[in-house]
Amino acid sequence: MKRAMVLIMLVIYMVGIIPQPVMAAENDFNYVDAFAKSILFYEANWCGPDAGNNRIKWRGPCHIHDGEDVGLDLTGGFHDCGDHVKFGLPQCTSASTLAWAYYEFEDTFIEKGQDEYMLNILKHFCDYFMKCFPDKTTFYYQVGDGDVDHQYWGPPELQTYDRPTYYVATPSNPGSDVAGSAAATLALMYINCKDRDPEYAEKCLTYAKDLYTFGMTYRGNSKGQSYYLPRDYLDELMWGSIWLYVATNDQTYMDNVEKLMVEKNISGDNMFDDNWTHCWDYVLTGVFVKLATLSSNPKYKQIAENHMDYWQNRIRTTPGGLKYLDSWGVCKYPAAESFIQLVYYKETGEQKYLDFAKSQIDYILGDNPNNMSYMVGFGDNYPKYPHHRAASGMLEGPPADEKKETPQRHILYGALVGGADINDEYHDNIDEYVYTETGLDYNAGLVGALAGMSEYCGQGQEPEATPGIEMVATKYYTEAKLYKTSSEGVTIDLNMYNIATSPPQYESDLSVKFFLDLSEYASKGIDTNKFSTKIYYSAANAQISSVKPWDKENNIYYVEISFPNDKLYAKTYVQFAIYNYEDKVWDSSNDFSTSGVTDTFKENKNISVYKNNVKVYGADPSGEEETLLGDVNSDGIIDALDLSLLKVYMLTMDGSVISVKNADINQDGFVDAIDFAGLKKLLLK
Ligand SMILES: [Zn+2]
Repeated sequence: MKRAMVLIMLVIYMVGIIPQPVMAAENDFNYVDAFAKSILFYEANWCGPDAGNNRIKWRGPCHIHDGEDVGLDLTGGFHDCGDHVKFGLPQCTSASTLAWAYYEFEDTFIEKGQDEYMLNILKHFCDYFMKCFPDKTTFYYQVGDGDVDHQYWGPPELQTYDRPTYYVATPSNPGSDVAGSAAATLALMYINCKDRDPEYAEKCLTYAKDLYTFGMTYRGNSKGQSYYLPRDYLDELMWGSIWLYVATNDQTYMDNVEKLMVEKNISGDNMFDDNWTHCWDYVLTGVFVKLATLSSNPKYKQIAENHMDYWQNRIRTTPGGLKYLDSWGVCKYPAAESFIQLVYYKETGEQKYLDFAKSQIDYILGDNPNNMSYMVGFGDNYPKYPHHRAASGMLEGPPADEKKETPQRHILYGALVGGADINDEYHDNIDEYVYTETGLDYNAGLVGALAGMSEYCGQGQEPEATPGIEMVATKYYTEAKLYKTSSEGVTIDLNMYNIATSPPQYESDLSVKFFLDLSEYASKGIDTNKFSTKIYYSAANAQISSVKPWDKENNIYYVEISFPNDKLYAKTYVQFAIYNYEDKVWDSSNDFSTSGVTDTFKENKNISVYKNNVKVYGADPSGEEETLLGDVNSDGIIDALDLSLLKVYMLTMDGSVISVKNADINQDGFVDAIDFAGLKKLLLK
C-alpha cells in the first residue's frame, strides 16, 4: 500500500499537479467496497466451460457448444445483460472501457487487491476475441439469437436452446466498429500485462494490429439484430488507433486519427459538440479526453473541456441531482461520465472534475431521494429484483415452473441497474427492466469511476464481505397437500425440491418414498394386488411403483415415485393416488407420510427423498433421519457441502464426525485436510 502511495505522490510531483486529497472522515461511502463489487459482477456474466472457476460458486459451465455450427470453438466471453447472448459491440466496447480503467488506475487496482481479478476478466475477453478472429478477414462477433434467447428464463447452465453463430464480419459484411473496439481492448491488454506476461501481451498486440487493419480496410457498421443498432464506426476506429498509438508509439496510428476526424467532418474550423458520453456504441468522449493530452492539436482539448462543462453545468438534472442523458439505462451514463472526468482530474488536478464524479457516484451509491443504492448488494438498501436470469435462478417452464417474480436465489453483487428515472423514482420490479436492467455496458464505466473514486477518496477503505457467493449444498425437501381421501384411498399433491445452485444443474436418479400403515386391512389379510397406484399429473414423466412392504410385521408399506431419465431442477410437481376399491376401509390418519398433511402445501419430513437410492432428506418409519451434507466424487472433490452445518455438528459432538478422518475446520469454515479414502458421503444424524 505504501509503495503505491509513494508512486502516486511521485507522479503527481513530476507533472506538477496536486489533486486535493479527500480525508477519509469526509467520505459518505466505502468506495473501495463498491469498486470491488463492481468487478465481481463480471464473474456473474462469465460464459464458457470455465464459468464458476472464479469467486461466484452459483455459476458453472454454460454454452459449451458455442461455435460448433461454424466448426470453431467460440466458447468464452460474457453474457450481455441479464440474458445470455454474446452481442458484438457492447462486449467489445465494454472490454475496452474496462481495460482503459485498469490502464488509468492500475496502482489502485493493485493496492486494493483487485488487479488479479480484473486482469483475469480482461484475459477472458481477449481470449474470446482472439478465438473469434481465426483469420485476418473473419471476425465472429455475435453468438446466440436474441429473439430465441429472450424467450427463456432460467440459469445459463440449464439453457438448451439453439445458439447459432449469428454474425460474422468479413470483407463483404464489414464490422469496423467491433474490430476497432476489440483492437483497442487487445492493445490495452498488451500495455496492461506486458510486464507480468510478455508472451501473452505480444500475442494480444499482434491480434490488435490485424483486427485494426481489418476494420480500417473493410468499412461498415456491425449488426445487432434489433437490440444493438450502431450509429457510426468512425469513433471505434479512432479508439483503436489511439490505443495502438499508445502501445507502439507509431505515429501512423495518430495520423490515422486525424484522417478519421476529417471523415467525421471534425477538421479545420469545424468543431464538434460532444453531448453524449462514453458507452457501447459511442466512444468519442473517450477519444477526445485522451486526445486532449496526447495530441498537440488544441481543438481536442477544447472539445473535451466543453463536453465536461456541458455535463457539469448544462445537461438536464433530476430533482435529486442525477445528470440525466437518456431514459434507458439512466445511471450508466453519469457513471461513465464520472470515469471520464476522473481521468481528466488525474491529468489536470482541477477540483471541479473530482467534485462532479463524487456527486454522481454518491447519488448512485445512496445519496438520493430514495436513500437507496443502485448497485446491487451495496449498502443496506439496494435493488432486490435486477433483471438477471442467473441471479434469479428461477426456471420458468417444466419441470420447475417457477416464476421470475419470486425472490431471487442470489445477490448480483456489484451490478448497476438502470436506476432512477427523471423524477428520481425507482421500481424494483424484474419486468420493468428500464429500471432493473443490468449489463456489461452498465458496469464498464462504473468500474472506471469507482477505481478513480477509490484512488482519490478511498484512503484506508477496504472491500467488505459478499456472503452468498460461496458453495452451498443442494437442498432437498418435499411438501405435500391432501387432494382427496376416502375409504377407497388417497390422492396426494407433492412438490419435490432439489435446490441445486452450486452450480445450477439438472439432476436425475431422484426418487421419493411415501409410507403407509395398512393395519386397517390386517383383519382381512393384506393383499398388495388389491391396491392400484397411479400418477395423475407430472411435468417430469414420474413413475409410481406398486404398493410394497417395508415392515410387514407392523403392516408398514410404501410406494416409490421415481423420475427416470429426467432433468430435475428446483421443484418437481406430481399428483399421485393409491386406491383399493374393493375393501373400502382406507384410513389416511395412521399413515406415516400423511401425518400432518392438510389441504395446503406444507413441508413434510415423512416423505423422504433419495438420490441414487441414498436418502438425502426426511425420515422413514424406522425413525432414522439423516441428511446428506456432501457428495464425494471419485476424484475426491466434495460436490456440495454445507460447512456451516458440519461446523455446528462438530462443535456439539466434540469433533467426532462419522466417516471423516483428519478433518479440520477452520474458523473461516474451510476444511483444512480430509482423508478421503473410503469416504462416500458425509452424514448428519
Ligand atoms: Zn454462457
